[in-house]
Amino acid sequence: MTTAAQPPAGVTVRVPGKINLELVVGPRRDDGYHELATVFHAVSIHDHVTVVRAEEWSVRTTGDLAARVPDDESNLALRAAHALAERHAVEEPVAITIDKQIPVAGGMAGGSADAAAALVACDALWGLGLPREDLVSVAAALGSDVPFLLYGGTAVGSGRGERLAPVLSRGELHWVLWASHDSGLSTAAVYAEADRLRGEATVTEPEPSDDLLVALRTMDTAAVGACLRNDLQQAALSLAPELADVIEAGRELGVEGAVVSGSGPTVAFLVASSAAALDLSVGLAARGPEGDIRRTVGPVMGAQVVGPPVPSGPTLHIG
Ligand code: ATP
Repeated sequence: MTTAAQPPAGVTVRVPGKINLELVVGPRRDDGYHELATVFHAVSIHDHVTVVRAEEWSVRTTGDLAARVPDDESNLALRAAHALAERHAVEEPVAITIDKQIPVAGGMAGGSADAAAALVACDALWGLGLPREDLVSVAAALGSDVPFLLYGGTAVGSGRGERLAPVLSRGELHWVLWASHDSGLSTAAVYAEADRLRGEATVTEPEPSDDLLVALRTMDTAAVGACLRNDLQQAALSLAPELADVIEAGRELGVEGAVVSGSGPTVAFLVASSAAALDLSVGLAARGPEGDIRRTVGPVMGAQVVGPPVPSGPTLHIG
């Protein structure tokens, strides 16, 4: 018996957030971006992005963080869907729903993650069948972090972060994330503050550290912890001084390493095991400063279609 499936009426994609194990910020380029060497690491805090066929293009967000996500043309998921439609001359509007769990304006690339998810979801909905490599050029035009969220795992990013090389690693790293309840940091403001703090100092071409790559290959947690580095951290602390208390609290409670993720204000604490993660999250919640405390692991896969798509109608059976 042959089954001719109807095209799906809806597709849901799960996409992780990222932290940066290392973020080396090089000189500011003529186009305003900074030359970067970064080690991206996808962690198990996920948004779910659903696209369904609709009369008109739209986007809405659900969950506690919804009020902080735009529901207009500035939403990165909607921009991604438009960009893919334009590239492939598709004229089929979609309604996008984002179930938001990744902190907003938290330095975890939540908007970029939703853009990557929307590309994967629309590709499946419209039956384009594009390989990930073909989605990357659309992704890179949307934002520097979008290509990484198509792949996930752990990867070195260069250029403005969009050129990727996978990092070999085995096993898992355990993290406790502290995220601000209600306020984020603007990425542009943090870069501007980093430039201000640097003043006239000479900035060399950025390179990822060999020590970190070796530590990841052997999954030596203590060595990874010692290599965590973020050149934007000082700027993030300058704009959000309470982050120093968060980092100090984690260090006092005992961690393998601590780093502000990306442009902040999320702080990532590396610990040795899931039991240590539980201890630390309880300790941080009791000690403060107040924030959203979540246990997570990495690396995890990038944007993936999850579950069977919502069927559009009865399946046609032939023969
Ligand atoms: P990055 O580290 O990539 O610079 P971030 O993680 O600090 O970003 P995002 O969560 O991506 O920050 O949000 C940055 C801003 O982007 C938000 O303040 C919001 O107004 C806007 N935005 C647009 N689309 C989205 C989306 N789908 N999800 C979250 N924020 C979005």
